[in-house]
Parts: sequence; structure tokens; C-alpha cells
Amino acid sequence: MNILLLGSGGREHALAWKMAQSPLCDQLFIAPGNPGTAQCGTNLSFAATDFAAIKQCCHDKGIGLVVIGPEEPLVKGLVNELKRDASLQHLLIIGPDQHAAQLEGSKAFAKAFMDRHNIPTAAYQEFTADNYEAGVAYIRQQQLPVVLKADGLAAGKGVLICTTHDEAVSEFEQMVRQAKFGAASSKVVVEAFLDGIELSVFALTDGKNYVLLPEAKDYKRIGEGDTGLNTGGMGAVSPVPFADKAFMDKVITKVVKPTIDGLAAEAFDYKGFVFFGLIKVGDEPMVIEYNCRMGDPETEVVMPRLQNDLVELLVAAGKGQLEGIQIQHDPRFATTVMAVSGGYPGDYAKGFVVDGLGENTADSLLFHAGTTTKEGEVVTSGGRVLCVTSFGTTVAEAVAKSRERLEGVSFEGMYYRKDIGYEF
Ligand code: ATP
Repeated sequence: MNILLLGSGGREHALAWKMAQSPLCDQLFIAPGNPGTAQCGTNLSFAATDFAAIKQCCHDKGIGLVVIGPEEPLVKGLVNELKRDASLQHLLIIGPDQHAAQLEGSKAFAKAFMDRHNIPTAAYQEFTADNYEAGVAYIRQQQLPVVLKADGLAAGKGVLICTTHDEAVSEFEQMVRQAKFGAASSKVVVEAFLDGIELSVFALTDGKNYVLLPEAKDYKRIGEGDTGLNTGGMGAVSPVPFADKAFMDKVITKVVKPTIDGLAAEAFDYKGFVFFGLIKVGDEPMVIEYNCRMGDPETEVVMPRLQNDLVELLVAAGKGQLEGIQIQHDPRFATTVMAVSGGYPGDYAKGFVVDGLGENTADSLLFHAGTTTKEGEVVTSGGRVLCVTSFGTTVAEAVAKSRERLEGVSFEGMYYRKDIGYEF
């Protein structure tokens, strides 16, 4: 089968690396990809949001399976567009349609879905400029801190945790009346703050059945000890030591199953990954968010631990045949450590040559994220540049291996956290 994978980050390199190992994979195309995905298949130079080029590619390359890595094409309706093409009816597509992708694209839509299906989440209400005064009154009644969320996608910046009512009201005013996050904040979800520890759980669904993939914990802050600004993710660990069997059983019965049953009951067109952003409050799982695709950098630890044939799973999901499939995973810890450009997540320069990439082994995998090729050399092209995934019988052993390999990699301004997994 010929496969088209859309996206260009570390997540896509990890997915491409895993898919390329499958005997079911004939030709693998990645658009636009990066120098890492080029080692696993053929990069094509169009964007993951260029619907016309994607359709043309499906025709020209005889694509049988499309895997959509990032959220933007999903929220913009790529799946609907592909399904409208009468000559692409054979295509298996991993990713929900535009309606179902609102689970990620609209926080109010996701909260209402959770309410309808009794899925544990923070108490909330939604407001717009039309009921501004009611929003202010609601905010003033809340315990502090209080959480404000722009309804739409805001590049990970649309969530504000406010420690005073005045700050929350001022932010609310800027969001709904002054379009602080553009159209994304014309609606705002105001919700209760949850105090706990976060983790990410992943399922692959065919819209009715699901398989559970290894869970992971990512490290969002730029600084060691989880300090400083939020980033796209500085590293990840899988399995998550505090997610023991009793807790994961609760995650399944209270969150995963009701979500998948909800998708089926509401006849959502959803064949693909479901990312549950959870917080463990006491011993209970609560949902912070849904994403309609895999996480980055979690994919870089989840895929290496997954022992099933990924293409076989994706084909089964695409055909609605996931029932009865068992997931096997490597019992060891996998950790990934992300190397970023100096200055990230603020302004940073690009175009620096990356040296010492070395060769991947079964135990040490370097995934490209923000890199590109220039005059035959790999150069930096983004904030998060590359990451190294390693295995160990403990988190500390796995992280030490990633750090050891990163010591041999260099580019101007390179920075990485040395304390990923520090609390375990
Ligand atoms: P991302 O870009 O990471 O997907 P997002 O912008 O879609 O994030 P959320 O995941 O909903 O937004 O929230 C971002 C972060 O804010 C969470 O990872 C969590 O740390 C924090 N957060 C969100 N909601 C709450 C809450 N109710 N209580 C405590 N913290 C919260």
C-alpha cells in the first residue's frame, strides 16, 4: 500500500520511522516532511494544508492510506474535502472530519461533549461579547485561580490561569471584546482550576472500537524544574510511573470508553488518534482537553514503545476493524529529550548547521523536528530542532542515554533540558 503522511515535525518523523518498518508499506510519501522523514520515505514539497496538492498526490501516487499528523488540516476540513472526491472513495483516512475535529478546535464544543457523556472535567461556562456582563459576574464568583480559555485554536497560547479576579476580568474583556486571540477568543470558556499532575493518554479509534496506546508525560516548560515559559514540549517519558493499573483502569472506564461510546452514539465520523490531555487530581482522572491527533513530543516515545505493526493498526482503524486487536508494547521506559534553538520559545535565529547527527540504533533514535536541508547540510529551521529517544530500565537510565547522545550533537545556540523525568 502507498501511504501519504502529512506534517513535518518530530511527531511525523517518529510516525514515518514506524510505518516504514511495516511489510504493508510499499511507498511512503511525507508532505512536507523534514530531513529525518526523508530517511524513511520520499518527501514531497507541498504543505499539509494544501488540499488541492494533497488530492492530486493521492491520484498521482496511487495512495491507499492518508495519515494526517497536525490539527490544522483536520480543523480546516481536509477529511471532508477528500471524501467529497468521488474517485478517492477507496482511500483510508486517519483523522476525524471537520465536525468531529471540533473536539480539538473548539473548547466549548469539547466541554459540551464531555457534559453530555458524563466525562469528568472542570466545571465551566462559556461566554461571548453578547453576554459579557454575565461572564464578569461568573468570573467574580469563582475560586482562584480561575482558568480562561479562548474557544478556538490559539497556538497553545489561548489558556490563561489568573490569580486575581481583576486580572481575569481584564483578560476576559481583552479576549471577547478586543479579539486578543483573533476570532479564536470571540468565545471564552471560564473553568475551575484543577490541581494535580498531568499526563497524556492516546487511543486509536475506528469510530466505534479503540486500542489504547502507551501513555506519556510531556514537559512543557523551557526551564529545568518546570520553570519559565511554555513551549511545544521539551521532552517526554513513557510509561508514566504514577499512572498505575488502578489509575489507568479509571482512565479507561471514566474517560476513554465513554468518549469512544460518545463518538459512536453521536455518529461522529472519526477514524484516527484521540489524545486525552488528563490531569490526575487525587486519584481521579479529569480531562483538560482532547486533541484529534498524536502529541509532539509524546509520539517520539509512544511509537518506539509500540510493538504492533502501525500500518496494520491504521488500516484496521480506517476500515472499522479494530475490534479484538491486542496492543503489545516494550515494557522499558522510553524518554525523549528535545534540543531547541537558543532563544526559543521567544525569538530565535535559524539556518545553523547541525553537526554530529550520527546513526540511529535500536536503543537510540534521533528524530528531526525543525530541520531542513541547505546545500547538502542539515540546518535548523524551527524552535524545536530535534530530539533523542532512548530506552532504559529506569527513567534516569533512559534520560542519561539521551543526554549522552545529545552531547555529540551541536548547532549554534543549542539548548536542552537535562532534567526530563526529574521527579521519577
Ligand atoms: P496545547 O497547545 O498544549 O494543546 P491548549 O492551548 O489547547 O494546549 P489546554 O491543553 O486546554 O490548552 O491547556 C493548556 C495548559 O493549561 C494545560 O496543559 C494545563 O497545564 C493548563 N490548564 C488548562 N486547563 C486547566 C485547568 N482547568 N486547571 C489547571 N490547569 C489547566
